[in-house]
Amino acid sequence: MFLTINPTDKQRYDQVAVQNFQEYLRIPSVQPDIDYDECVKFIQKLANDIGLPCKVIYPKPKRPIVVVTLEGTDPTLPSILLNGHMDVVPVFADKWTQKPFGAEIVDGKIYGRGTQDMKSISIQYMETIRRIKDSGKRLKRTLHCSFVPDEEIGGVLGMAEFVKTEDFKNMNIGFALDEGIASVNDSYTLFKGEKCMWHLKFHCPGQPGHGCLLHENTAAEKVRVILDKIYDHREVQKNKLKQNPDLTLADVITLNATIIKGGVQANVLADEHTITVDVRMPYTVDADGFWATLQSWCKEAGQGVWIEKLIFDSITQPTTLDSSNIYWTAIETTMHKLNIRVSPLIFPGVTDSRYLRRLGIPALGLSLINNTPILLHDHDEYIRKDTFLRAIEIYTDLIPAVANA
Ligand SMILES: [Zn+2]
Repeated sequence: MFLTINPTDKQRYDQVAVQNFQEYLRIPSVQPDIDYDECVKFIQKLANDIGLPCKVIYPKPKRPIVVVTLEGTDPTLPSILLNGHMDVVPVFADKWTQKPFGAEIVDGKIYGRGTQDMKSISIQYMETIRRIKDSGKRLKRTLHCSFVPDEEIGGVLGMAEFVKTEDFKNMNIGFALDEGIASVNDSYTLFKGEKCMWHLKFHCPGQPGHGCLLHENTAAEKVRVILDKIYDHREVQKNKLKQNPDLTLADVITLNATIIKGGVQANVLADEHTITVDVRMPYTVDADGFWATLQSWCKEAGQGVWIEKLIFDSITQPTTLDSSNIYWTAIETTMHKLNIRVSPLIFPGVTDSRYLRRLGIPALGLSLINNTPILLHDHDEYIRKDTFLRAIEIYTDLIPAVANA
């Protein structure tokens, strides 16, 4: 059944958009081990409501990719992908002043996990498509709105697998929009690229024995060297930022020891300690050279120290933002017309866009959330209702411009 709305009844469109947003927020698609069925059913219902075909693909079991399509007048042209992930990160419910999956509106703010990251954006895409479709206007290029799983745990079983499928190839994607980050001021932040992420586990094996002895070659001594190296390097990067106000997190290598493990008992020397490290590198870094540096740290730390590669992404070049990119030109022109300032940056984290950029598909990260504190992954995540609705108005100009490029 279609939902019929009088195309001039803006209030009704806004009401429907907020209701659908709340419904999506109330699905606790929270990591880990998500059952995505409820999300799939919700999206199918929403697509049906708008009157659009909806396809569900399973590149991996229990990891559905849902694609809702608005066909263009020239389906032979490369299409536009509007991508969003269905999963959200866990919450510390006792630290929230509102229910994390209640989607309650308090003082004009919609609270809930996913209000910024990024259920808001997926609903905005869908409600924009509803408005375009109902207006009777046809766009040149086909629009695909995709809902993908597991972005919050690296997209390994989500977007990374999706891009390998025939379904994906057949979509012939020319350009993609995906998530960004909220902006605390009037402008919007747009991401043209991302840093490169490595998750590494340093294994520091050592001589076991009694804790009362002074053995040589113990695991903890090696841990000490590795930690010193990491934190000395970190200090250098911090100073770089301090000394040059033009630099941002995107310009430096960040290293953090996030998990340190090992040992069985207080009076037993461990046979191994491990240090898990989160590494983020600018796309300008010589990754091979940095890998060689890490190897030299292992050597210096002592006998048998080695690195396990948990995630070892390759450097991905950012999307080019000049006149050669017709989609960017369309966005720039539209934003100028709407008198909206966007500042293109490099994302300090990673998103699913990297899987697209690697295939040479231009992709931009844009969350149309301004004048809002950055609360992704934080307690009391919210978006103002008027900010949420304003974004749909902007997309109603922006998405047709891109689709007609
Ligand atoms: Zn996200």
